Amino acid sequence: MILIDRVTKIYDKGTQRSLDGVTLHIKPGEFVILIGASGAGKSTLLKLLTREIFQTSGKIVIGGLDYDDIMSSEVPALRRRIGTVFQDFKLLPNRTVYENIAFALEISGASNKEIQAIVPRMIELVGLSGRRDQFPDQLSGGEQQRVAIARAMVRNPKILIADEPTGNLDSKNSAEVIALLEKINQHGTTVMLVTHDVNIVKALEKRVITLEHGKVTSDTMRKGAV
Ligand code: ADP
Repeated sequence: MILIDRVTKIYDKGTQRSLDGVTLHIKPGEFVILIGASGAGKSTLLKLLTREIFQTSGKIVIGGLDYDDIMSSEVPALRRRIGTVFQDFKLLPNRTVYENIAFALEISGASNKEIQAIVPRMIELVGLSGRRDQFPDQLSGGEQQRVAIARAMVRNPKILIADEPTGNLDSKNSAEVIALLEKINQHGTTVMLVTHDVNIVKALEKRVITLEHGKVTSDTMRKGAV
């Protein structure tokens, strides 16, 4: 469960409320879409969830963990529970598909045995079994994003945050990435998708949360997908 209760964020040198009394409850296993114009506060909300920044007031509790009580030594463990993918895939250009995914496990202290067990499973999950030894520049944008998603999933996070994951992709690749996010969601991971793409929003029957000037102005279940 993600509980965000009357959260306000004013950046250090700012006077404006980048988030202004945001309250959201997201159940385990939900798939939510977050929309809003540039500057609405979407990135601020995501950065609060990944503990890159701190709220000015209000409460954030994820999976029973109150963010006010987290010590800095616990932040890496928290981040393992929250996978993230971005518009730019941030893959290491000199490493293969397999090595890019393995690297995420290496830095989190996994043993070779764990790496050898988990990486092929992740490659299969994202449908890139034939491509494991290829380098990022040998892959389409959609395939690169699928590698990034595999990398985000290595620790089986409870929550996957996807911040404009289709921003650099054509419609076919976008659809594949969204289908993969739905599959991951069906396996039980809560998915939080930030998108500007109205076609994606229209094609999904999901909860859509709209942020405007730091406030939630709409939070509805979208019905009647086309
Ligand atoms: P979005 O992701 O929806 O485009 P942001 O969360 O990036 O919106 O920004 C929300 C508001 O917070 C904007 O007015 C932006 O200028 C401001 N903001 C974002 N980051 C900072 C920062 N580091 N310092 C001061 N103001 C910021």
